[in-house]
Amino acid sequence: MKLSRKSLSIAPSPTLTIDARAKQLKKEGVDVIGFGAGEPDFDTPEHIREAAMTAIREGYTRYTPSGGAPELKEAICEKMWRDHNLRYQPSQIVVSNGAKHSLANIFNAILDEGDEVIIPAPYWVSYPEMVKLAGGKPVFMEPDEKDGHMITTALLEKHLTPRTRAIVVNSPGNPSGQIYSREELQDIAAIAHKHDLWIISDEIYEKLIYGGANHISIASLDEETKKRTVVVNGVSKSYAMTGWRIGYTASVPELAAAMDNIQSHLTSNPNSIAQKAALAALRGPQDCVEQMRRVFDARRHYMVQRIEKMPLLTCKEPLGAFYVFVNAGQACGRHFRGTLINSADELAAQLLEHYRVAVVPGRGFGAPTYLRLSYATSEENIRKGLDRLEAFLQELQ
Ligand code: PMP
Ligand code: GLU
Repeated sequence: MKLSRKSLSIAPSPTLTIDARAKQLKKEGVDVIGFGAGEPDFDTPEHIREAAMTAIREGYTRYTPSGGAPELKEAICEKMWRDHNLRYQPSQIVVSNGAKHSLANIFNAILDEGDEVIIPAPYWVSYPEMVKLAGGKPVFMEPDEKDGHMITTALLEKHLTPRTRAIVVNSPGNPSGQIYSREELQDIAAIAHKHDLWIISDEIYEKLIYGGANHISIASLDEETKKRTVVVNGVSKSYAMTGWRIGYTASVPELAAAMDNIQSHLTSNPNSIAQKAALAALRGPQDCVEQMRRVFDARRHYMVQRIEKMPLLTCKEPLGAFYVFVNAGQACGRHFRGTLINSADELAAQLLEHYRVAVVPGRGFGAPTYLRLSYATSEENIRKGLDRLEAFLQELQ
């Protein structure tokens, strides 16, 4: 029996694979520390769960309009205004089954066979696969760290071809936690104007920023940039709602209509109960977000400071999201109990096998000598996991 070329060209999500493996080991009674998951370890705040229970009790259990309930779209418009001074109408919003689904809708709505999307590395694992599934071609761009600016017009221009349709901007970024400066965003916008490109701005980590960093939505630069930008966001990370599956986009109405059309055939509306929960998240008290952010910040400090002291590893301080992206290049090429460790993939495999610590190897993020450690887990787990990582490194020869 034949499978499609498209399905065979896609790699499984390494983040979800590692997470599933760690959860499975835990279920089997193995004392494994999971630094793999990109998901807050907090429970969804009580008032949000209450809103979902009320929705069930009141029988809010039918199809909503495919692109989301009008009330939720209104709340998203209010949020965009409150946070970024961006005016959108409900007709510009599409609510989907997580930001992942929003991104898939975007690529399907803007790409024809062979169209190219520029993806700055390191990137979140799913962008290239989603572009390929939509018939497009991912074009990876290695940042140039000269002058502290990662993205410049010159660098972008080197990656343009007549088939380029879009640029992905993920700030704060997964896996590096980097935040683009206004200048970098302006450079990206200038190139997009000049070459008539879409800007896909994934802002899912916008609330998780640290050390006085400032998140700017590229759509807020000016009216022309806003028209070219499709903002992607969701409730998974800010409100600890990964399982609820609500993400959304804000864009020009034509693109929103195209995505709604696609979604209306593929999934219909996202879960009605989860939409009510998302409504409570966006319209309710926001102090829960700040409380979680502070806890993440303390963990971030601890993790970075421990890793900086470890042999063979280096890392930059992440300014957003909840990952530390660690350069493990010096650990590759060494031996562990007689086995040559050739790559960060092998490093991660041996670490899980012998020291029971799950980390995500960098290959899927376009950085093969790196490891990604998530600090969205308890302080005790972080301490224990880092003790184990340190002991593992000391064994490398
Ligand atoms: N974008 C980035 C950068 C992410 O890390 C994630 C995490 N899964 C998503 C989008 C999608 O989030 P979700 O589908 O849970 O809304
Ligand atoms: N985005 C998170 C991560 O990078 C969750 C897993 C996924 O959806 O890839 O780990």
